[in-house]
Amino acid sequence: MATDKAAILEKYRAERDKRLREDGNDQYLETTGQFAHYLDDPYTPRVERPPVTDHVTFAMVGGGFAGLCVGARLAEAGITDVRLIDKAGDFGGNWYWNRYPGAQCDTASIIYLPLLEETGHMPTEKYAHAPEILEQSRRIGRTFGLYDKALFHTRVTDMVWEEDKGVWRITTDRGDSFTADYIGMGTGPLHVPKLPGIPGIDTFKGHSFHTSRWDYDYTGGDTFGAPLDKLKDKRVAIIGTGATAVQCVPHLARAGGTVYVVQRTPSSIDVRANEPIDPEWFKTVATPGWQKRWLDNFARNVGMGGAAEDWVKDGWTDLTRRIRAKVMNLPPEQMNPAGMMAAYEDADIEKMSEIRARAEAIVEDKETAEKLKAWYRQLCKRPCFHDAYLQAFNEPNTHLIDTDGKGVERIDETGFWVGGKHYDVDCIIYASGFEVGTSHQRRAGFDIAGVGGKRLSEAWSDGMRTLHGLHVNGFPNAFVVQVAQAANYIVNVPHNWSDAGETIATIVRHAIDTGAKKVDVLPEAQKKWVEFVLTSPGGMAGIAPDCTPGYYNNEGKGYQESALFGAGHPAGAVAFFSYIDDWRKSGKFEGLTFN
Ligand code: NDP
Repeated sequence: MATDKAAILEKYRAERDKRLREDGNDQYLETTGQFAHYLDDPYTPRVERPPVTDHVTFAMVGGGFAGLCVGARLAEAGITDVRLIDKAGDFGGNWYWNRYPGAQCDTASIIYLPLLEETGHMPTEKYAHAPEILEQSRRIGRTFGLYDKALFHTRVTDMVWEEDKGVWRITTDRGDSFTADYIGMGTGPLHVPKLPGIPGIDTFKGHSFHTSRWDYDYTGGDTFGAPLDKLKDKRVAIIGTGATAVQCVPHLARAGGTVYVVQRTPSSIDVRANEPIDPEWFKTVATPGWQKRWLDNFARNVGMGGAAEDWVKDGWTDLTRRIRAKVMNLPPEQMNPAGMMAAYEDADIEKMSEIRARAEAIVEDKETAEKLKAWYRQLCKRPCFHDAYLQAFNEPNTHLIDTDGKGVERIDETGFWVGGKHYDVDCIIYASGFEVGTSHQRRAGFDIAGVGGKRLSEAWSDGMRTLHGLHVNGFPNAFVVQVAQAANYIVNVPHNWSDAGETIATIVRHAIDTGAKKVDVLPEAQKKWVEFVLTSPGGMAGIAPDCTPGYYNNEGKGYQESALFGAGHPAGAVAFFSYIDDWRKSGKFEGLTFN
């Protein structure tokens, strides 16, 4: 193993070096100006409406899972005067936008879909497809009365604390100017599509769109998986081979036209093994309190502590189970940080070797199979799970265009260039992902102003500072719903939202019941919490430095010190959820002031 391991790690480094580039995040184009049309909503027509100028108890930016969980938990606490605001035409957030064919969750539905128990929905598949996930979002909206006051196709442009009135003023691009006692921000991490900065991208005369704005008028078919019949005589290029492309390529292949899958770095494609959920089995699961128990079981299994039994059994629990087994089986003399790290590395190499062998076993053309092998540690990039992606390359109409880590050379009026060769196409689909490394203000489109007009970007200019990832000193009655400095639980993001919703609802209920108008954080409490969080290994900054570039590692640029502030509870997600549950239940709200 030792020699193999050295050779494999050397190959990892060589592949990374090919992909490294000076421009980091600047290689991508912002979807503004001449590219702004890539953001148009193809799904819901915009309806004109008069500006809103009223007052609500709670205004929440974002109608995705984060906003919906907060809205639902507030409703459960009897606070129904709640307004969700979203740039989309309905609830759903990412699942509103991402309707590309084959879109599906990668974490088991039973724990990924929020509020299943509260809404009485049984997921139909182990990994639900996008239409069902979008419908669950709408179901949450209906169940908790969140449609009544919602504002869709509306972008918040500013939120300013008005000290004299003790309210937040919210302004939007629809001319709205209303106030709220409390505000929440659930804008999500991956919602601004980005385009690859390929020379000549603006010269292409054919059709093009981003996967998060799928143009079914052009392709035919629908989000439920109907064949993309209008593509059968077309030549289509899809640029990018990340988690999105992996799900839609099989559908493009099935359409029958010519498909070029343009790859810069291959994804790791593990087994999917999707299956329908048996209603009889589900009845045995769905006893009162079931989803919380399942969430807890999953969180324990994907954490290093482990749980007695793995109920969910998906790709993520498989991954951690293997690593844990390797570490736990170490002889006593190797049970030290170096020994554990080596065991972790062995488990990873074992898994990635299996994944590379899978590509070889499935893909008939040997050269294509070789190019589809992922040469990096599994967690350097988003792991993918699919049972039809690799198989698609066995279709005679589907061609892998590997760019050897370099990307597309250029685009012209009629197509694209790779390796000095021109490919004529009718359509280019950009599966090029979403902005991650850019500033929060740029992605959100606003920068809230707290006490004394201080902007959040200013307060966080040398790293974010919060209590529990949620409250920021000087920004009273405001809640930032995100994962850092809290559970930092990426494997099942909705779990963070449902829990944050509970915290927010408990705090607002307490303030209303006690007649308090202003909830703020004690500076010492915030400082202490941040110091505590900083004792952990770090958020994205914890990703191995020798990883192939991507959004997990700031495009290979390494992180500035401020990225360490993206860490979570040092003992992990389970510890955070348990800690915050005790904090809520104590009724003391330690660290907050109510005036
Ligand atoms: P990604 O950012 O993961 O992928 C973008 C792709 O575009 C990469 O393959 C990238 O190559 C490629 N690319 C960028 N520039 C160029 C260029 N100049 N030439 C050629 N190729 C280029 O975006 P995705 O939309 O696939 O996924 C984003 C995230 O969304 C995922 O990581 C995941 O978190 C989430 N997601 C979740 C899903 C789920 O839960 N089911 C499904 C889909 C997405 P390179 O790798 O070399 O940078």
